[in-house]
Amino acid sequence: LMQLYLPLNFLGSIYSSLRTALVDLEQMFRLTDETPEIVDRPDSIGLPARLDEAPAAAIRFEHVRFAYRPDREILHDVSFSVPAGGRVAIVGPTGAGKSTISRLLFRFYDVSSGRIVVDGHDVRDYAQAALRAAIGVVPQDTVLFNDTIGYNIAYGRLGASRDEIEHAARLAQIHDFIVSLPDGYATRVGERGLKLSGGEKQRVAIARTILKNPRILILDEATSALDTHTEQEIQTALRTVSAERTTVIIAHRLSTVVDADEILVMGEGVIQERGTHRSLLARDGLYARMWAAQAEEREDEEV
Ligand code: ATP
Repeated sequence: LMQLYLPLNFLGSIYSSLRTALVDLEQMFRLTDETPEIVDRPDSIGLPARLDEAPAAAIRFEHVRFAYRPDREILHDVSFSVPAGGRVAIVGPTGAGKSTISRLLFRFYDVSSGRIVVDGHDVRDYAQAALRAAIGVVPQDTVLFNDTIGYNIAYGRLGASRDEIEHAARLAQIHDFIVSLPDGYATRVGERGLKLSGGEKQRVAIARTILKNPRILILDEATSALDTHTEQEIQTALRTVSAERTTVIIAHRLSTVVDADEILVMGEGVIQERGTHRSLLARDGLYARMWAAQAEEREDEEV
């Protein structure tokens, strides 16, 4: 039965990788008609995609300015760097520009001025396909295909063996759940199958990304509240997938960012505060107020 969910033929796998690439982009970037065309330079270069091909890649935003439309600049002179294998978290109120940073890193848009450097080169030097292959995204809300849960994990790397798929599922803390289902890995999910919770879907996305093994990771944390147990399982899974990879986390729950190397507090298109959790608390500014507000919410939930 396990064979059933693996792609059966070449055409099938091409079709599904195209389909999944499109779905991923759409869900992450909510494609709009105004999306500008990004084209590769004629002399564009490649870069190793997977962590087993090369070590994690450093990221640097240098004085980045960006506007979706000419009359409204969204990012004003944003600079930060993530060392190879490091973890940077971006927090801040809705509309602050957090997701915009991840879209620019993925080069879904080009900066208006400044530059973004990945692995020593401006992202505009790379072939888009090469850049995007090196970046794994765990989106807020993962779209599942009407296929088996095993297939939904496997397309992180089509052609992965059953052992590799199970290994990824274990690391993503979703294996035990899967084997508890009546048909295990062959259980159909999606619109016409079993509906998974937000937390389960996110773990499927994490398992996919573990299979993909990208050198850079963008985690777009779900806003939806999770129960404490699920939250802990997801934290464990996220820690596994981000270990050794250069990671950018767009965080909504500050509990996720406590151990980040640097936290960027975005507001109104600029980095308002930056530092470690400790240093930001000591500063007693915006971050400290956000932390206090979320601590109150956590207490309310526990009552
Ligand atoms: P949230 O926490 O709600 O996800 P965010 O900090 O990620 O918010 P962004 O999605 O980066 O915010 O959006 C920053 C600003 O850019 C917002 O004011 C938003 O309205 C605007 N914006 C986002 N996408 C587009 C787009 N495709 N076209 C025009 N404006 C956009």
